[in-house]
Amino acid sequence: MKYINKYKSPNYNSRKKLKIKLIIIHYTALKNTNEAISFLCNKEKKVSSHYLIGQNGSVYRLVNEKNRAWHAGQSYWQDCYDINAISIGIELDYSPYGKNNKFSLSMLASLKKIILKIQKKYKISKSNILGHSDIAPFRKKDPGKNFPWQKLLSAKILLKFNNVKKSDIKIIEKWFSKNNINSKKRIIIIALSLLGYDTNLVSKNHKKYNKLLNAYKIRYLSEIGYKNNKLLYNVLMKHLFKFMLTKT
Ligand SMILES: [Zn+2]
Repeated sequence: MKYINKYKSPNYNSRKKLKIKLIIIHYTALKNTNEAISFLCNKEKKVSSHYLIGQNGSVYRLVNEKNRAWHAGQSYWQDCYDINAISIGIELDYSPYGKNNKFSLSMLASLKKIILKIQKKYKISKSNILGHSDIAPFRKKDPGKNFPWQKLLSAKILLKFNNVKKSDIKIIEKWFSKNNINSKKRIIIIALSLLGYDTNLVSKNHKKYNKLLNAYKIRYLSEIGYKNNKLLYNVLMKHLFKFMLTKT
């Protein structure tokens, strides 16, 4: 894997010895690679990422992996509020409104390579390859509804759970009912929380609940019609079952 080391961002600080556990995927929402480089390397913007991948597949290393790049902002995953300290951030030169509104094959090829490399190096779990919208579902949409998560799944980068059986879902459902958790909404919230999502305020705040559901649907249900909450429930139960099995 060839990196371009010509541009460096000053926007980072120390991880304070925290271990790298997550990979976060973003899009820049800027016009092109040049704009993205100037933005991410501008001291006044106070944002950065470890890597930026251009439409042609070029990979720019803007911040050393050992440092805490500023890409996640206010975020949360599995009891952690300082996502920058425990993650590697990858920006894609993509804007839903620009000429760069496609996730090009070269870009995706580089993305897969780089994720596989980082995953192996830090032993990152398949459940911890996330989008910005997973860790900040109430304020961020990137990498967006057109990002092909399916391609990362087929490259064996992500946790596969579509092969979970109906009888396995029953095991999860039994567990919920044994613990007197019977409302579908509560089951959904607890499942999302176990997976890592921020569910802190969603049970009382309907707007937030819908935003969280949307973040999950965009990522996991985009291929099978993501308006349906019953589908979401089934996918979520399969996901939780597989997640519990593979949790280390
Ligand atoms: Zn982002």
